[in-house]
Amino acid sequence: MSTDPQQILNTVFGYSAFRGSQQEIINELISGRDALVLMPTGGGKSLCYQIPALARPGVGIVVSPLIALMQDQVNALRQLGVRADFLNSTLAWDDVSAIEQRLLKGDLDLLYIAPERLIQERTLDLLDRAPIGLFAIDEAHCVSQWGHDFRADYLALSILHERYPQIPRVALTATADARTRQEIVQRLDLTNARQFVTSFDRPNIQYRITQKRNARQQLLHFLRREHPTDAGIVYCLSRNKVETVAKWLSAEGFNAVPYHAGLTPRQRQEHQERFLREDGVIVVATIAFGMGIDKPDVRFVAHLDLPKSLEAYYQETGRAGRDALPSTAWMAYGLQDVIKLRQMMDGSEASDAHKRAERQKLDAMLALCETTACRRHTLLAYFGEASPEHCGNCDTCLTPVPTWDATVPVQMALSCVYRTGQRFGVNHVIDVLRGDATDKVSQNGHQALSTFGIGKDRSATEWRSIFRQLVAGGYLSADIDGFGALKLTELCRPLLRGDATLALRKDIAEPQDKSARQRKKKGSPAVPEHLLEAWEALRACRKRLADEQGVPPYVIFHDATLLSLLEHKPSSLNDMRDISGIGEAKLERYGDAFLEVLGSL
Ligand code: ADP
Ligand code: ZN
Repeated sequence: MSTDPQQILNTVFGYSAFRGSQQEIINELISGRDALVLMPTGGGKSLCYQIPALARPGVGIVVSPLIALMQDQVNALRQLGVRADFLNSTLAWDDVSAIEQRLLKGDLDLLYIAPERLIQERTLDLLDRAPIGLFAIDEAHCVSQWGHDFRADYLALSILHERYPQIPRVALTATADARTRQEIVQRLDLTNARQFVTSFDRPNIQYRITQKRNARQQLLHFLRREHPTDAGIVYCLSRNKVETVAKWLSAEGFNAVPYHAGLTPRQRQEHQERFLREDGVIVVATIAFGMGIDKPDVRFVAHLDLPKSLEAYYQETGRAGRDALPSTAWMAYGLQDVIKLRQMMDGSEASDAHKRAERQKLDAMLALCETTACRRHTLLAYFGEASPEHCGNCDTCLTPVPTWDATVPVQMALSCVYRTGQRFGVNHVIDVLRGDATDKVSQNGHQALSTFGIGKDRSATEWRSIFRQLVAGGYLSADIDGFGALKLTELCRPLLRGDATLALRKDIAEPQDKSARQRKKKGSPAVPEHLLEAWEALRACRKRLADEQGVPPYVIFHDATLLSLLEHKPSSLNDMRDISGIGEAKLERYGDAFLEVLGSL
């Protein structure tokens, strides 16, 4: 095999050009130097170590915590004609020893190893005797004790540097923040490594956050209109909700399965497999789902509950559109979400410092929800990245949000909270404002208050919008006693004194943006109407080949490759070489099958 990176890119992977800093990273490693790579999901991290592993003598050792994923990664590489294997606890002893033999003989290009396995003396002893080309430490943020993916075994990976100082190492992660980066450098001894920090923007993902009215109906509307036959993930906070939403979506005709920690490992495995192998499956899941899913054609990620931080939101939504084709991150959120999360945090057993950190993260999440500025700009700014003020591909850019001077109604709302003794939840306070003489109002004598009925010209929905924004903005806190009694915070003073004004967003029904309406009805991505039949034929061919080998369809060809086939209609194997995603091995294996389909159209 060639040792020229460009040639490997063309002939093995079938791609014509490197993306972003891939080439520089690859050269760094081929020259025997260390590197730290920060790239968003879907940015193309794997090539950064796969190509040097092929170009350098010896095997590339890839440390990855995602055991469930290794088989797929190895399958995908084998499809490309790369000699790949993995070592983890799922293998039988016979297999292990066969792989070890291949490793020692230098018959492997890439070997994936789980960290807990790598640091065993037996494995290290094996590595001592094997020809090693490089170490790639994937998901390197797992060394961070502050992150949510911390793995103690990752801390022990500093041994690689001590034991094999002459072998280049590359650490890779999609976690953006500077603190995690510092921790990786320090714990993995990468002070001398060149750092490659790429933009974390995911331009193909359209970010949309809408206010909850009837969340399920809103979701249904979104799916029917924009993703009727697409694969996607719907995130919910609780297992119960996951179950009911999955059942309901199935009843509505979608191919939906639940996924949460309460299912048996077998059920989880089965549902994940269906998501990977069948076309158009929706997984309704708690956050237990997603880590280690690198299905490239997830067309949407929907949130029915609010994530706890922007880090979580970005990671979860980032699972959409790894193949760079248009995808949607959609979320519905409302007042109850805010109150619930605030209560959960205040009521947790964590230390004060930890609580404070969590609170700040939630505040940033809420600020994103309530912002009238570009969502993408806001997100990227949070991760320390400068970007244009308008992205043109988020809800607030597509349909600018009007604001209004809410100072007077806000004063009414705040003083009503105060006059009712800061002991009641939002529904009661709204009843008082609107002058609804409910039993609770009479029992507490609240019709005698000066704020009784002062807000009757606004609907309860409008008041809820105001209260949501006040809680999100930190003007009101919700008590942790479980009833969510609203209390004033320090921030209210200037407003109540009349020293400050407050503009709030005017909630509007979900924008009927043009790009969404123009999307065709069936089977995205963007296949023009007259090519739908051909598209389905190509998909069917891919599915058949995938099923024969028991691999997910995208392991044969990505959607982008099928689209390119549709567009260029190659009529010979040689023409097919120009299609992105078709290298020599796949050309030989699948070229004829697809030529036949194309010829029959
Ligand atoms: P990450 O690990 O950063 O999430 P991957 O390595 O899985 O991303 O790459 C995402 C997708 O982009 C993959 O389908 C990969 O084949 C494709 N890709 C990567 N580099 C290139 C390139 N230079 N040209 C075309 N496609 C690429
Ligand atoms: Zn925008």
